[in-house]
Amino acid sequence: MINFTKKDPEVFSALNNELKRQNGKLELIASENFTSLAVMAAQGSVMTNKYAEGYPGNRYYGGCEYVDIVENLARSRASQLFFNAKYVNVQPHSGSQANMAVYFTFVNPNDTILGLDLTHGGHLTHGSKVNFSGKMYQFYAYQTNEKDGRVDLNQVQDFAKKYRPKMISIGASAYSRDWDYEAFRKIADSVDAYLWADIAHTAGLIVAGELNNPMKYCHVISTTTHKTLRGPRGGMILMGSDFENKFGITAPKSGRVKTMGELIDSQIIPGIQGGPLMHVIAAKAISFQEALQPEFKIYASQVKKNARVLAQELMNFDFKIVSGGTDNHLMLIDLRNRGCNGKEAQLALDEANITVNKNAIPFDTESPLLTSGIRLGTAALTTRGFKEAEMKQIAGWISEVLNDIKNERVKEKVRSEIKELTKKFILYPELI
Ligand SMILES: *Cc1c(COP(=O)(O)O)cnc(C)c1O
Repeated sequence: MINFTKKDPEVFSALNNELKRQNGKLELIASENFTSLAVMAAQGSVMTNKYAEGYPGNRYYGGCEYVDIVENLARSRASQLFFNAKYVNVQPHSGSQANMAVYFTFVNPNDTILGLDLTHGGHLTHGSKVNFSGKMYQFYAYQTNEKDGRVDLNQVQDFAKKYRPKMISIGASAYSRDWDYEAFRKIADSVDAYLWADIAHTAGLIVAGELNNPMKYCHVISTTTHKTLRGPRGGMILMGSDFENKFGITAPKSGRVKTMGELIDSQIIPGIQGGPLMHVIAAKAISFQEALQPEFKIYASQVKKNARVLAQELMNFDFKIVSGGTDNHLMLIDLRNRGCNGKEAQLALDEANITVNKNAIPFDTESPLLTSGIRLGTAALTTRGFKEAEMKQIAGWISEVLNDIKNERVKEKVRSEIKELTKKFILYPELI
């Protein structure tokens, strides 16, 4: 990369230090990953200069011939990746904006929606009181079972009957189990509700065939592109089947039936966004191509294997994992038997160069600022080449640090062992 340190020492020294931090610490935040250099190059490219409001072949600005190529590539690769999706929109700036467009297309303000409780793994954009979703819609939150830590389908069924939602949402940021999309679809059909899956966290595992495929059962899918999918930060919306025609609405003036796809398109722009981030869309196209390669399947399978081993090893050290394990890339540790809360654990691990986040656990009694849990994910470290042996080492370090969170000597020891390990797995050697 070109070195601009002299031009702006303040920003560029922070960028360099961030590279050192990513390279020198163990990144276990479940929503993060490390993109390829090609993805980063596209994001730092000339396409950041281009305005392209509209869609390929139909823009408000001139000079769009090359950005059109890129957006068409992103769409067709995404369609191929997501089991021949019939509809793709790659313009959402983020997962949250993709979700906003789903709401604006499928439901009206004050409509009733069912979504997973935030304190049971759900996401902010699925009805949190402080988020637009919780303010604009009447949300009822289903939860996980206290017994097995899994989503309570009976409760979903009961709530569906009782509250008659217009839409049911599936999607989580801290839920380690797979979803039964077919069962959800039956419930949705029984009350004539739309079924929406937000696969922000698990998209990479789904396209690799490591988790159930929602495309067959859900009317609409939203996702981020930067979590397990390992692309640039951004969002995307997909539809799998002929739902567009079935649910289209008639335009009042022309009498022409607009498809659901056209309606989503117009909610993204002009509905909630202006110009698309064409440099990010170029990076999305590259990451979709990467995810179509056989190596990505191997990667996704290793992500899952690593998560399983990490969870098992932690349980061997007497840590409680919510739901007793994981089907995907992440797990929640319930710290209530360990004498520290989530905030203290996050801090202590950070001091030992292990990066995690505190996280509420189902039926948490601590405040959201402290929490009783931490969330760990294996997507980023698997990209670095970590395998089962390294997961065992990491579980050991987590246990050492959390057994005695004030012990500075333990942290010092763990830091120096991590330094040795990360030397064997240099991140972005081309940049160092
Ligand atoms: C991460 C996430 C999002 C939001 O993504 P942003 O790009 O951060 O806006 C939405 N839904 C779920 C389930 C997520 O995990």
